[in-house]
Amino acid sequence: TRYVYRFGGGVDDGGKGDKNLLGGKGANLDGMAAIGLPVPPGFTITTEMCTRYYNDGGVYPESVKAEVAQGIAHIEQVTGKTFGNIADPLLVSVRSGARISMPGMMDTVLNLGLNDQTVEGLAQTSGDERFAWDSYRRFIQMYSDVVLELDHGAFEEALDIAKEDRGYDLDTEMTAADWKVLVAEYKAIVEKLWNKPFPQDVHDQLWGAIGAVFGSWQSDRAKVYRRLNSIPGEWGTAVNVQAMVFGNMGETSATGVAFTRDPATGENAYYGEYLINAQGEDVVAGIRTPQYLTKAARERAGAKPLSMEEAMPETYAELASVFEILEKHYRDMQDIEFTVQQGKLWMLQTRSGKRTAKAALKIAVDMAREGLISEEEAVARVDPAALDQLLHPTLDPKAPRDVLTKGLPASPGAASGAIVLDADTAEKLAEQGKAVILVRVETSPEDIHGMHAARGILTARGGMTSHAAVVARGMGRPCVSGAGSLQIDNVARTMRIDGRVLKEGDTVTIDGATGEVMAGEVATVQPELAGDFGTLMEWADKVRRLKVRANAETPLDCRTAREFGAEGVGLCRTEHMFFDAARITAVREMILAEGEAERRTALAKLLPEQRDDFAEIFTVMAGLPVTIRLLDPPLHEFLPHGEGEFEEVARAANVSVDTLKRRASELHEVNPMLGHRGCRLGVTYPEIYEMQARAIFEAALLVKENTGEAPIPEVMIPLVATAKELDLMKAIVDRVAAEVFSERGATVDYLVGTMIELPRAALKAGEIAQTGEFFSFGTNDLTQTTIGISRDDAGKFLTHYVDKGIFARDPFVSLDVDGVGELIELAAERGRKTRADIKLGICGEHGGDPASIAFCEKIGLDYVSASPYRVPIARLAAAQAAL
Ligand code: ADP
Ligand code: MG
Ligand code: MG
Repeated sequence: TRYVYRFGGGVDDGGKGDKNLLGGKGANLDGMAAIGLPVPPGFTITTEMCTRYYNDGGVYPESVKAEVAQGIAHIEQVTGKTFGNIADPLLVSVRSGARISMPGMMDTVLNLGLNDQTVEGLAQTSGDERFAWDSYRRFIQMYSDVVLELDHGAFEEALDIAKEDRGYDLDTEMTAADWKVLVAEYKAIVEKLWNKPFPQDVHDQLWGAIGAVFGSWQSDRAKVYRRLNSIPGEWGTAVNVQAMVFGNMGETSATGVAFTRDPATGENAYYGEYLINAQGEDVVAGIRTPQYLTKAARERAGAKPLSMEEAMPETYAELASVFEILEKHYRDMQDIEFTVQQGKLWMLQTRSGKRTAKAALKIAVDMAREGLISEEEAVARVDPAALDQLLHPTLDPKAPRDVLTKGLPASPGAASGAIVLDADTAEKLAEQGKAVILVRVETSPEDIHGMHAARGILTARGGMTSHAAVVARGMGRPCVSGAGSLQIDNVARTMRIDGRVLKEGDTVTIDGATGEVMAGEVATVQPELAGDFGTLMEWADKVRRLKVRANAETPLDCRTAREFGAEGVGLCRTEHMFFDAARITAVREMILAEGEAERRTALAKLLPEQRDDFAEIFTVMAGLPVTIRLLDPPLHEFLPHGEGEFEEVARAANVSVDTLKRRASELHEVNPMLGHRGCRLGVTYPEIYEMQARAIFEAALLVKENTGEAPIPEVMIPLVATAKELDLMKAIVDRVAAEVFSERGATVDYLVGTMIELPRAALKAGEIAQTGEFFSFGTNDLTQTTIGISRDDAGKFLTHYVDKGIFARDPFVSLDVDGVGELIELAAERGRKTRADIKLGICGEHGGDPASIAFCEKIGLDYVSASPYRVPIARLAAAQAAL
């Protein structure tokens, strides 16, 4: 097996830009070199090597040494420099690169190949002593941090003291002599902390760095990132070794990062930052405030320091033409790292840029319109889950704001929450259901879990491409970065902004679209659903086969669902109407009734209320199917629980507290989930289902009369296990329908079907379909009853199950396709065999989960039903499943 692939200098080892083999970074370095862009030569050690390295217990196969030596020889040949040569040394960077980019997760070592002798050679050949010693001190510091894993605080402190002693503010004020002194101090620090001198042999340096990159794959922060992003551990990372180019060789040198389109808004305009006389990490690390790439962006921000477009017009023009080439080549918005060495442009990285949901949408739609991609590709490009960000409220522009300060608009969306100053606390409070805003000087990969837990992120330092900004955009969290006037006191647990002091726990609001930070909570408004969103949805609807309905039981939910494009209601839970404060008394009278007659009296009071509910829903959903589930929960759920409540309820229901308590204890169940609920209520108290059926049909006729548009009620019987149960219940519904139709002298079409939510029902689906005209898979209960776990109690152990790989994902979030899915597939098959045109849908939580929707498409269900806000997500996911 070949483990090393070279790139640049016209060499092609046939890696073919394969991301799985070369990692994302290596694949695209190879790709850029292949299309003739200026890429410093180098080589990639494959991800297969990483996997093998771990499997073999951290040793390399003999062959790879020779391959690496060949790789170095390749770089030497192209650059004309020699690794370790005293007179004209070759310096390299050692860079990690997983299959998909893991920002800030893996470590990079720059300027490798410097030692006490080669630094002199570099000074000679470059004619710049200061540059050579600056590079050496950077190398020692990075190598000590990344490879030797020494505490970097000691180095930072030494630099701070050096500047302070000399009265400097900036690193750039340090002279060659100053750096030389600092290098000696750095080496002393290494000897003290590591008990060995800093490695002078360049080959030792190289292999140390390669081992560290492979090692970083198993670092805690990389593991956390992989877990959060479902990246398998077996993928491994590649290692890229590449000739150094220098952005720190004076005023004609620079380094920068850029996006070919705006990653926050999607606007088709170059977007980026650069720093003159600096090396790569400087821009990202937020040590110096970077300058704008384009003149337009600088002017818009009212900033002074010249943009790259103004400061280096020729190089900028070349860069801009590279942007165009890259977008055409990769057919996507690119995130680019580049360096300018004495006026010469070098490309160091390109990849598809991370973007906000808003930008993803705009870029996909724009690119399809530009003819760069097809409409189907545009549909495939937008992550359905990310649409969530767009469907949620933003700050009400008219709401009063108490603006504390303004930072950079690093990731859009608005969020309010309690100030929390560290990631662990953020995670802890979020677990308790608190909304928190994580406030940090700047974030680092160690903060990932806290950023994930927080509603939003606020930092005092760092630009638009800082760690906080990049990670927040990827997670869809609003973020304001670089709020310069923010001072954080970790001891007093306060933050101070221009003289105002806020304590940890105080509420703030951040607006990631404007960068504003406000005291207290600010009102929000609903999102805009026209424009690009509407266009993409139209394209999605063209390719989609599955219908999408909503789980909704209030007219408001139904209206939202319809606006979001729902094609019916897949689940209307009638018990929600029973809980309504205005009717709970009548419901309780019904429950407390001593016999059928009394129960019927109480039910008669509920009838007009239910009829009105249904009439409103039918009106909103005119012309569309509405699946109404008859009463499902055990009756004791409607009775009071607390001591004080009993008296109040007894008075209202006109019974004694004792009677009420007796009835409550009669109804008490040890395991209510498997108790007297669902159609079991209809079997014992048919009058309840009779009343509900009557309400449905009377409402349907009413709406037909008033609007001329008949709704299509689908009456759903819950928790059926046997065909006989459904037979009995359907007989009731049909009888009531016939009664109502003859009373009113009019009819509507309707269906009677069942929820499949018990394994027995799935198995006996063939029999049940003889009566049932539709099946709706109630995957919440079906998951509970198939796996035998209770959703309400599973929190304690499910995360362990996911961590240990027993379940790939929480089966209540994403359908357990292997197990529960097999039952669904089998039930669908058996149902269809009996009744070829049986309508099949899914109405659990899973109806809004893209992976579960893909499964529904695969087995040919007719529709999925999701909560109103997830309807667009389901529409897009259904389209992607059909592609
Ligand atoms: P990350 O994956 O964290 O972005 P990179 O491997 O891209 O890490 O390296 C970080 C920075 O180091 C890059 O932004 C780039 O500017 C700089 N860098 C990497 N390799 C070289 C090189 N050969 N010459 C100059 N700068 C480099
Ligand atoms: Mg890095
Ligand atoms: Mg990079």
